Amino acid sequence: MRLLVTGGAGFIGSHLVRAALEEGWEVTVLDLLTYAGNRANLPPPGPRWSFVRGDVRDGEALRRLLPGHEAVVHCAAESHVDRSIAGATEFTSTNVLGTHTVLEAARRAGVGPLVVVSTDEVYGSIAEGAWDEEQPLRPNSPYAASKAGADLVALAYHRTHGTDVRITRCANNYGPRQHPEKLIPHFVTRLLTGGRVPLYGEGANVREWLHVEDHCRALLSVLADGSPGGVYNIGGGTELTNREMTGRLLRLCGADWDRVDRVPDRAGHDLRYALDDGRIRRELGYAPQVPFEDGLAATVEWYRANPSWWEPAVRAAG
Ligand code: NAD
Repeated sequence: MRLLVTGGAGFIGSHLVRAALEEGWEVTVLDLLTYAGNRANLPPPGPRWSFVRGDVRDGEALRRLLPGHEAVVHCAAESHVDRSIAGATEFTSTNVLGTHTVLEAARRAGVGPLVVVSTDEVYGSIAEGAWDEEQPLRPNSPYAASKAGADLVALAYHRTHGTDVRITRCANNYGPRQHPEKLIPHFVTRLLTGGRVPLYGEGANVREWLHVEDHCRALLSVLADGSPGGVYNIGGGTELTNREMTGRLLRLCGADWDRVDRVPDRAGHDLRYALDDGRIRRELGYAPQVPFEDGLAATVEWYRANPSWWEPAVRAAG
């Protein structure tokens, strides 16, 4: 059984490749190696997995690659909200057109299931309670809008062509090998090197945090037992304001609040995301396993122990 993982050299994709190999899959990684992709994220070369450098928007390449695969998990994306505010073209292109191209190639090759890895951000902000999968999509950032566009194209392929598409919408992930532009690694790498960290506005924005290994467990269970056309929220993480998260990271890095700079809030910044993950728990028996405080402490330790992994990306960002 061979699985194609797009974006497998990124943060979540590289954890998924390891988890799928452990479950007995053979794996092909298709990744363009943008600034966010890193061959060093992947396991050492082995007989059960292979790497192909390529673009998910390249339909011809996908049509050549897909035969011989039983399933696809589509992780490849432009994934950083701040970059989508600075310029959204690559987001619409990779996230919407790229997903469309993967769907079309999978349909033609008769390959499925195809798990489309999406995000809680497609629902937009919620002041109280939690979104279930029936909520309308009200994305606010160009990143979230491009992910919502991809979800809608995927659902249309299921309804129109019967393609076995399964969509997952996960909360914020944390763990080793996340690009240092993202909140936790950005803060940790700056604090560990004596730098200062920026906190948007009052730091009141609430996010739900899930360990990347729990996300991958959920993705593999949707791949194995999900319903064609099904949408699954993946939550069960820990809800924290950015201020609370900052406090925890300062403590874990041995730093004080005098290292924090208040910066103007991000444009269109959603106040709160929260997922109702009852469906995946009831139907697939999924439950997160990594206790948040342990997972966060281990993540900080990983960045402390692996500066050679993150220093080049920090240097490249200037
Ligand atoms: P990432 O930015 O770390 O990795 C993205 C990977 O996709 C990189 O390896 C990059 O080289 C590759 N890629 C980008 N454009 C490509 C293209 N055109 N063709 C082929 N490969 C391309 O992202 P991540 O955090 O691992 O996120 C993976 C997926 O999970 C994304 O779809 C994201 O929207 C979704 N997601 C992320 C989170 C999170 O907290 N990180 C939460 C929910 C959902």
